[in-house]
Amino acid sequence: MNKTISIIGSGFSSLSAACYLAKAGYKVSIFEKNNTVGGRARQLIKDGFTFDIGPSWYWMPDVFEKFFNDFNKSTSDYYTLDKLSPAYKIFFSDDVITIGDHMDQICEEFERIESGSSKPLRKFIAQAQDHYNIAINKVVLKPGISPLELVTKDTITRVDRFFKSISSEVRKNFKNPKLISTLEFPVLFLGAKPNQTPSFYSFMNFADFGLGTWHPKGGMYEIIKAMKSLAESLGVTIHTNSNVEKINVENGKTTGITVNGNFVTSDAVLSGADYHHSETLLDKNLRQYSESYWDKRTFAPSSLLFYVGFNKKLKDIEHHNLFFDTDFKNHAEDIYDNPKWPKNPLFYVNFPSVTDKSMAPEGCETGFFLIPIAPGLEDTPELRKQYFDIIINRFESLTKQEVKDSILFKESFCVNDFISEYNSYKGNAYGMANTLRQTAFLRPKLKSKKVNGLYFTGQLTVPGPGVPPSLISGKLVSELILKNEV
Ligand SMILES: Cc1cc2nc3c(=O)[nH]c(=O)nc-3n(C[C@H](O)[C@H](O)[C@H](O)COP(=O)(O)OP(=O)(O)OC[C@H]3O[C@@H](n4cnc5c(N)ncnc54)[C@H](O)[C@@H]3O)c2cc1C
Repeated sequence: MNKTISIIGSGFSSLSAACYLAKAGYKVSIFEKNNTVGGRARQLIKDGFTFDIGPSWYWMPDVFEKFFNDFNKSTSDYYTLDKLSPAYKIFFSDDVITIGDHMDQICEEFERIESGSSKPLRKFIAQAQDHYNIAINKVVLKPGISPLELVTKDTITRVDRFFKSISSEVRKNFKNPKLISTLEFPVLFLGAKPNQTPSFYSFMNFADFGLGTWHPKGGMYEIIKAMKSLAESLGVTIHTNSNVEKINVENGKTTGITVNGNFVTSDAVLSGADYHHSETLLDKNLRQYSESYWDKRTFAPSSLLFYVGFNKKLKDIEHHNLFFDTDFKNHAEDIYDNPKWPKNPLFYVNFPSVTDKSMAPEGCETGFFLIPIAPGLEDTPELRKQYFDIIINRFESLTKQEVKDSILFKESFCVNDFISEYNSYKGNAYGMANTLRQTAFLRPKLKSKKVNGLYFTGQLTVPGPGVPPSLISGKLVSELILKNEV
């Protein structure tokens, strides 16, 4: 008889693992507490407007392609990808930088800002490509069991790049603060400050300038729909509205889970829910990591998000827009060093309807506003309103147009929602940061050391935050399960 596995949660990592395990012959059941699948990547549809609730940047198209290729499929079997041109726009207080969809355009833009900067830029991106090839094709494919996984010819010859920060590398080559911010932006996806992120992670800059920014027609939720459809075609059963209340253990081995009060037996259990929450489903003596362990980790930011329907098309905006008109150093301190609501936050706005008509009613614009904030902050309706007013005023003045009177509706999402919707630790949005001390074998483990048959996946474990890493995490954990349990 096929072995059975119960998977907690239906985010990217859970869906990925479910597909690999079902393909290998496991009888896989997914249990998701919410009423739809997708986890942090769910979708909101309101009055003809379509919003991705979480991720909006489709980077590293090769990782998505490889995932579907593992099942003899292609992304194009499920969704249509457009390469965005320009990729994005960055608003500064006195200028706007536009990032084109290939290096020649980007070099031209760099030259406009700092004469002579295109030469170091090409060199920097060539090195970033080298890092990408090692990181994405080799390092991240390791399960994070032993430090020796990181000791390879490729990494040993580049060891200095694990100890220098991306910030120092960028500042060595570029002087203009706007170019520095532009080149430090991609590593923010890894959840830590650029001066605490190893320069090896410049592979994110290659993902940005080298591979480009893509958009699945219909939005990021198309990927979730594709993975759900693939999983079901492989025989995975998906249960929504199914809150997992306990991971059951007998004689040091998991026997299954309790879902909405009912016991479900299985040979193994895999949790794709936030790691901290997953361990609270165990008796205390069976947890591997203490509360003080979690408290000492550097968590990636939480976010204050607004989903806004506009009754008109907006001017001078792109699909992705970054508002870097205030000082990032101060904002970063408010996120990481001295957690508090930021005085002058940087923010990001996504208007998918600029390039994809299906995302908004005709003549309207779908707007997603994001302010990164420290996890665990107080979250009240008054604070949400205060911050919406701050950013919408700045948005109006930087894009030189009035939009407040064109708002049809506005929904928000913040710390309290991350906790209630996803059981997220302190309401983090992107899991645990990828700092040097929280990389690879130093991250929470895929396999429980205390309970046989219990595994973990997702953005709090290896390789880290983001959609592509979550797909890889699901693959890594399924390989480990097959190795240990079959
Ligand atoms: C606002 C935002 C913007 C982002 N932007 C980007 C981006 O542009 N590009 C990018 O690549 N990444 C982005 N990310 C990160 C990316 O979305 C995540 O890394 C990824 O979706 C995490 O997937 P996961 O499988 O680890 O977990 P999750 O998506 O969190 O899935 C965990 C699931 O477990 C469920 N669950 C929890 N507890 C239980 C329980 N007891 N019983 C049953 N189910 C339970 C939750 O409901 C959830 O569905 C963004 C994230 C956020 C929040």
